[in-house]
Amino acid sequence: MLTQPTDLPIEEVVDDLLSSFRSGHRAVLVAPPGSGKTTIVPLRVLEEFGTDGKIVVLEPRRLATRAAARRMAFLIGEDVGATVGYVTRDDRQTSKATRIEVVTEGVLTRRFQRDPALAGTAMVVFDEFHERNLQTDLGLALTLDSIESRRPDLKLLVMSATLDAQRVADLIDAPVVTGSGRMHPVEMRWSPLSRTGRLDQHVASVVKQAMGEPGDILVFLPGMAEIERVARSLEGVDAEVHMLHGSLSIQAQDAALFPSSKRKIVLSTDIAETSLTVEGVRIVVDSGQARAPRFDPHTGMTRLRTVPISKSSAEQRAGRAGRTGPGVAYRLWSLIENGTRRPHSEPEITQVDLAGLALELAAWGKPDPSQLPFLDQPPPRTFREGRDLLTSLGAIDGAGVLTATGRRMLDLPLHPRLARMVIDAAHDDRWLACVLAAVVDERDPFRSRAGESPPADLSLRVDAVGGIDNQWADRRAVDRLRVRASDLAGRIPGLKKPGDRLKSGARSAPSQRSGAVLALAYPDRLAIRRGSPGRFQLRTGTTAFLAPTDSIAGEGFLIAADLDGKRKDARIRLAAAIDTDDVALMFSSEVEKKVSLQWSGERVVSRTERRLGGLALDVSERPADPGPDVARLLAARVRKLGFQSLDPNGSVRAWLDRLEFGGGQRREGDFSERALLDGLEDWLGSQLTSVVSLSDLDPIRALKAQAPGRGRQPPSQVELGNGRKVKVTYPDGVPRIAVKAQDLYGVNRHPEIGGVPLVVEVLSPANRPVQITSDLPGFWKGSWAQVRKEMMARYPKHDWPADPTAR
Ligand code: ADP
Ligand code: MG
Repeated sequence: MLTQPTDLPIEEVVDDLLSSFRSGHRAVLVAPPGSGKTTIVPLRVLEEFGTDGKIVVLEPRRLATRAAARRMAFLIGEDVGATVGYVTRDDRQTSKATRIEVVTEGVLTRRFQRDPALAGTAMVVFDEFHERNLQTDLGLALTLDSIESRRPDLKLLVMSATLDAQRVADLIDAPVVTGSGRMHPVEMRWSPLSRTGRLDQHVASVVKQAMGEPGDILVFLPGMAEIERVARSLEGVDAEVHMLHGSLSIQAQDAALFPSSKRKIVLSTDIAETSLTVEGVRIVVDSGQARAPRFDPHTGMTRLRTVPISKSSAEQRAGRAGRTGPGVAYRLWSLIENGTRRPHSEPEITQVDLAGLALELAAWGKPDPSQLPFLDQPPPRTFREGRDLLTSLGAIDGAGVLTATGRRMLDLPLHPRLARMVIDAAHDDRWLACVLAAVVDERDPFRSRAGESPPADLSLRVDAVGGIDNQWADRRAVDRLRVRASDLAGRIPGLKKPGDRLKSGARSAPSQRSGAVLALAYPDRLAIRRGSPGRFQLRTGTTAFLAPTDSIAGEGFLIAADLDGKRKDARIRLAAAIDTDDVALMFSSEVEKKVSLQWSGERVVSRTERRLGGLALDVSERPADPGPDVARLLAARVRKLGFQSLDPNGSVRAWLDRLEFGGGQRREGDFSERALLDGLEDWLGSQLTSVVSLSDLDPIRALKAQAPGRGRQPPSQVELGNGRKVKVTYPDGVPRIAVKAQDLYGVNRHPEIGGVPLVVEVLSPANRPVQITSDLPGFWKGSWAQVRKEMMARYPKHDWPADPTAR
């Protein structure tokens, strides 16, 4: 099958390996990088067993997946897609004839979720197991669970480049086969980066220095951005400069891997640490850093962060210089710092957020990780947080069972937060959701300039992706986001042909809806403004702020997608405004309504306050419904303000006075103000429960009902001797009238009611009392002369007869 025999070191142990599969179903293979694990072992297994089913080989990276398939196909003289093929999330080359399928780890997980028995697969090979990706650990757990319950015949091989394989051998209950490599000595040279130095410049100068010695140079850098910067610094050196990273074309990758007649400098991510072998390397320059997934509390998701590599990774990297002959490794950190580095990389499962893992386990039907044979159990607290997040996203129900939304989330290459946003966005918001998912998932396309931070408003980024120029925007970053958003849109049924969208220029999204859409991903990140512009409070209680000059600083509500991790006074770095109605809609199940009765001026109103987790959203008022609650408020108000409040124009008082004058009824009740206030509910009760304001009360009507003798109430008017009718009041039970002097002319008998003389108040033309008398004829005869004199002086135009009785 292999067209040429290989002399790779792995051949020495292949027989041992094959014989362990003859006697059992599982094995662990440990051998150094470059010894032939990836490209030889699957072919030898196929040769030996010619299995009925496929051999599925898992690689942690896309680039390695493609490279392994191509190399194996080459070794048997075929094209990729015949006996050997590959499948990644976005790309596949396989056929009916394919027996060895190299796949990325996520592909295996998807297959298990569709078919837990993995029908048609005879063997699963985990390559690069030492990397301990989350997907590797999950894939192994699912494989073991499937073997136990459904597929006792499934063969399992775990391959690792580092020696700490005994734990996994114990877990899967398998023998360890150990191979050796061919290693020449490698000399270490420490060349630490100074505290203020720039990595790319330092790397370039070390590379130039290293060119004094023979051999190709392999440089390890954390990521693509650093690789591109160093490549620019190396322009003009006498060598071919190649780049090697995940998003590279096959051609560019081949050029980097194979020896060339000219001297080569390969700038690589950690992909060349163990996954890919770069031929002819004698010199390694190691930045000592790698991009690794870490939980990022700022965004509430896992993101790639640049971290120092472990001692074991550094060993692997240095070893790449000793394959062809003695080599040199430059390490850009100090021997002292090296002592502080961890011996091995931490398994990803202990470093990242586990919402995605919890989602997979729910889909697998074993939501509790302790039900599965993980090499390292996920940290319980992180896992619980992940599960709580899934619940709040609606991906699992109260019992931990996957919902329809949750199932669809599994198929999107996004964190559960962003996947939920894309799935649950209303149809018209879908494209916006894709753009937002891209913006939040990737690096901010707005860049700080001259020490000034860009504005926090996410909708400005959405507009930039939509083609609106923005001074903060990095054009290339914006272009990348547009491609990413289109890719996401392409995965959503009903949002087809995002390419057409882009071509037609119709790529703008309704950015003012950004907050409403973002809330689907960040229901826990609602911020409510507290006081002055820029001051906010999150639902969790944390206070947060942004610059008061920021365009969204004055908004009432924000959804904060990126917050620096402080417990108190977190800085909001990315957010979008959301209006109150959208908040109420989005969080309707959690919004509490607090209804209370309040005074609004003279009336009682019903005030509805909407609250969310202790924060007030808004307040609305409407007229209150009359009833016992309103009655209590009305009665309390009357008691507080006094009887006066029931009787603003004194008519009640007047009525009571007449009642008292009328006499008789007093024995049937106490009509003093004190008693009426105390007994308010008794005599006014039915009115109190049917109105909402004091002015709607009619106390006299209520009092009449209380006083059965009301028919004999004294008159409220009296006719004077001159025929005029005037109003009578009864203060303190004494009838009284107040009349202008002119209106009394011609009244010669003192007026009385039921034999009781009235108190007559004689008024000036300006309604000022000039005399009080109970004997009008006496007044006319007596002091009138004096009064008349004064009045004539003051009001000469009025009529002041000397004898008013003559009129
Ligand atoms: P391992 O998986 O143990 O690290 P590989 O199977 O990837 O080893 O590679 C074994 C050897 O095969 C390498 O040392 C190299 O010599 C050779 N090899 C692998 N891939 C290629 C390739 N694409 N082109 C040329 N040689 C290759
Ligand atoms: Mg390998």
